[in-house]
Amino acid sequence: MSAHIIDGNLLSKELRSQVAERVATLTRQGRQPGLAVILVGDSPASQVYVRNKIKACEDAGIHSVFEKYDAAFSEADLLARVEALNHDPRIHGILVQLPLPAHIDAHKVIEAIAAEKDVDGFHVNNAGLLMTGQPLFRPCTPYGVMKMLESINYPVRGANAVVVGASNIVGKPQAMLLLQAGATVTICNSKTRDLGHHTRNADILVVATGKRNIVTADMVKPGAVVIDVGMNRDDAGKLCGDVDYAPCAEVAGWITPVPGGVGPMTITMLLVNTLEAAERN
Ligand code: NAP
Repeated sequence: MSAHIIDGNLLSKELRSQVAERVATLTRQGRQPGLAVILVGDSPASQVYVRNKIKACEDAGIHSVFEKYDAAFSEADLLARVEALNHDPRIHGILVQLPLPAHIDAHKVIEAIAAEKDVDGFHVNNAGLLMTGQPLFRPCTPYGVMKMLESINYPVRGANAVVVGASNIVGKPQAMLLLQAGATVTICNSKTRDLGHHTRNADILVVATGKRNIVTADMVKPGAVVIDVGMNRDDAGKLCGDVDYAPCAEVAGWITPVPGGVGPMTITMLLVNTLEAAERN
């Protein structure tokens, strides 16, 4: 295996200890940062994500509130809870875990979160600020990817970056952050003809599709940075990414593992966003 591994657990540990120091300073001033997490329904995956987020908050000294409602919780009641948290002075960040049950309009709920407490960065105001180059909150996963590139001192400026996946929560904001850092960016989606033609040109390849092994070794430029955002299960039920890891690691210069790559960074950047929301308050 020739690629250097970008260890998301190790980097997260460093960043979380810096967050904890800044949280302690605010707490001493009587301004402890607070995050509210709302979960609707019983998705086992969502429950794990939420538990990890709450635990990370506790470890960093961030005040956390967890509200769990059953799958039949109404949209009106959820909007009322968001509104109450918008006005709660101890809460600086509000996160509604997605996906929501089908009877709830996720867009409506996200838009109901006060933009200055939207630590996920999904509110249209925050998407617009990101698009125009003045981000208030950077969405946590793409922000974590940028921190990973920073950690290896990668010269993003002038690099060819290819983002595979164009969702509002990962692919699109990822492309914006890379563009703002000076990369030449290509965004691919499910309609892209000849995906490998694009990926083989990537100095930085970020893959976020939820399709296991969508990127194989022949699609990677030798020496490239390969960042795997995907979270899938292999045939044995083990967590894996979108990238065919071992063969790609033979070709890439740097690569992120799954688990232990982007996943922990996403939670770390949620802590950073909550801290910064409290610092701005
Ligand atoms: P999503 O909303 O389902 O979007 C998937 C994107 O991939 C879409 O833009 C889709 O294209 C594109 N796509 C699908 N098949 C493709 C193909 N064959 N070639 C090129 N593009 C293709 O998913 P998401 O929310 O962005 O998440 C993507 C993956 O990242 C999932 O595995 C998710 O679990 C994982 N994730 C991980 C973290 C983390 O912290 N590690 C955080 C968030 C998400 P269209 O636009 O044409 O449909």
